[in-house]
Amino acid sequence: MKKIAIYGKGGIGKSTTTSNLSAAFSKEGDKVVQIGCDPKSDSTKNLMGGKGIPTVLEQIKAKGDDLKVEDIVFTGFGGVLCIEAGGPTPGVGCAGRGIITAFEKLEELQFFEKYQPDVVLYDVLGDVVCGGFAMPIRGGYAQDVYVVSSGEMMSLFAANNIATAIKGFGKRGYAKLQGLILNKKNIENEDEIVRKACEEIGTSIVATIPRCGDIQIAENQGCTVLEALPESEMCEIYRALARDMMKVGK
Ligand code: ADP
Ligand code: MG
Repeated sequence: MKKIAIYGKGGIGKSTTTSNLSAAFSKEGDKVVQIGCDPKSDSTKNLMGGKGIPTVLEQIKAKGDDLKVEDIVFTGFGGVLCIEAGGPTPGVGCAGRGIITAFEKLEELQFFEKYQPDVVLYDVLGDVVCGGFAMPIRGGYAQDVYVVSSGEMMSLFAANNIATAIKGFGKRGYAKLQGLILNKKNIENEDEIVRKACEEIGTSIVATIPRCGDIQIAENQGCTVLEALPESEMCEIYRALARDMMKVGK
């Protein structure tokens, strides 16, 4: 089982990248699980026809001890199994706590043992890498970590923080930063800025995803580009990245 965490600043394109990757992995014939670990809870929306799914936190509240796997796991495009950890009511409680609770619930339900996926993708908000948001890179959840960033300073700043957190946990856990996914915003000198930042962080660019209107066209239909626009040049970019990710460590 390949366990991948995709981190990055809010709004940088984590969910877009992760859901297109999930669709790409499914096209390669893999059994895929995508777990949204962002209080926004919209990670899997474009795999579910544009609709949000009930989150683990919401369902724990609603169903209590009667909660079943079917209450929190939903099948999306390409058979991708979609889960949203969920978040607290704004201003009340810790956002990271939702992730911890969701992970504990999945373990309790023996979800991974039962479903035996080939790939698990965690889509994680990386603005603050506090206890909850660090959960996927601790305790053996994710092996390979990727950071999505553009050339904007704030997203590179978040990338640096995430890299620092992984290095800190690296000695104990086994998550490894495998590289940066450059999701372009088309700012001036973007490739050069990001290349230099990667040097400083001690990582490299593993893929460059162009800014492309096809993403919005697909999104307006509640889809990934792999579903809505299979002829789009974007599809091969995500598929190539998925294949490269699968080869890591093999
Ligand atoms: P995050 O999950 O990091 O908060 P999203 O994946 O929701 O960010 O992306 C934010 C917005 O940016 C989306 O609505 C999407 O349309 C747009 N976007 C992301 N990546 C691209 C891209 N490569 N080309 C065009 N638009 C993109
Ligand atoms: Mg998101």
